[in-house]
Amino acid sequence: MIFLDAAATTPVRREVLEAMWPYLSGEFGNPSSHHSLGEAAATALADARAAVARVLGCRPGEVTFTSGGTEADNLALKGIALARRTADPALDRVAISAIEHPAIEESADYLRRVHGFTVDVVPVDGHGLVTAGALAAVLRPETAVVSIMYANNEVGTVQPVRELAALAAARGIPFHTDAVQAAGWLPLNVKDLGVDALSLSGHKLGAPKGSGVLFAKGRLRIEPLVHGGGQERGRRSGTENVAGAVALATALGLAAEEQAAQAQRVSALRDGFIDAVLKAVPGALLTGHPEQRLPSVASFCFPGTSGESVLLELERRGVVCSSGSACAAGSDAPSPVLLALGIESEVAQTAVRFSFTSAVGEAELAEAAEAVGAAVGSVLGIGRR
Ligand code: PLP
Repeated sequence: MIFLDAAATTPVRREVLEAMWPYLSGEFGNPSSHHSLGEAAATALADARAAVARVLGCRPGEVTFTSGGTEADNLALKGIALARRTADPALDRVAISAIEHPAIEESADYLRRVHGFTVDVVPVDGHGLVTAGALAAVLRPETAVVSIMYANNEVGTVQPVRELAALAAARGIPFHTDAVQAAGWLPLNVKDLGVDALSLSGHKLGAPKGSGVLFAKGRLRIEPLVHGGGQERGRRSGTENVAGAVALATALGLAAEEQAAQAQRVSALRDGFIDAVLKAVPGALLTGHPEQRLPSVASFCFPGTSGESVLLELERRGVVCSSGSACAAGSDAPSPVLLALGIESEVAQTAVRFSFTSAVGEAELAEAAEAVGAAVGSVLGIGRR
């Protein structure tokens, strides 16, 4: 099988499994316990927090471990918006881009439905880019928080986060970015990026599903979503997932060491793959930005086909990928992300996303591109195998 669905999830790395294993077995303590087992767990958690902080360039106290990217996004958007409005009732708007992951989009909708916020949606251009002008046009004195993703999970477009965050900072508005897909491929130093909050997910990086991080600047007030024993400095109650935190920290550390070299290597492979697919399928349309895109994502529409049929034909040929986000898999509705890019609904339904792990190689991509030509040909009924 050629696995080209790494944006959905990745396998756990061996080094990660080895690092977390002790905290699932002999060192199984609860970090809140005052005996030696508990203290060992608390030390492991503190070390993991410090390791994440080193990669992000922040203080350990600014790192909150969560159950994944979804929870980190929820905590950022709802937590910052609610805390700021409590402090100043005039702050009753949030701004998000038109192509956010449902974890942000649905959180914004919850704030609208249940708490009466107004949601301002920043449009994107045909490549999926949020321009500074488009963001500036929606920001208001009442905006409590802005959330613009670092890199899109369906088309791979990378946003000019530094520029957008600076714009929000100049107006005193906290800026959150969902960096779930960017992690491992793009620089994550929060000071360089100028962001106030940033979300990560372990399972896109070779850590298990169900581990995540929210970085939030120490001075930012955040209304917690999960109440209880006050763990994670009161930002996220519940007995900590020590093994998950160790796993995420290990995976993030490895990814940071490898990032620059892998981004360069995989970008070149991605470009070769894009060329090969465009050659194999003359009507194919590359979606997302031609240059400002994740090294790991090549996404297309194949007009005249159905994305789901192409996926089935590809799987028959040993290539596993997806039509877009894993959250929307199996849905017949065209992707809201592609619609926001101005792609017609009929064409949007023909989307296929190929996304690579850092272990991807040239030969398998050449094989995959050939399979794409054959699969699309077969769906179009033009007699290829
Ligand atoms: N944000 C983005 C951009 C994602 O791609 C995903 C997962 O696909 C998430 C958030 C959610 O992360 P998790 O699966 O850890 O909840």
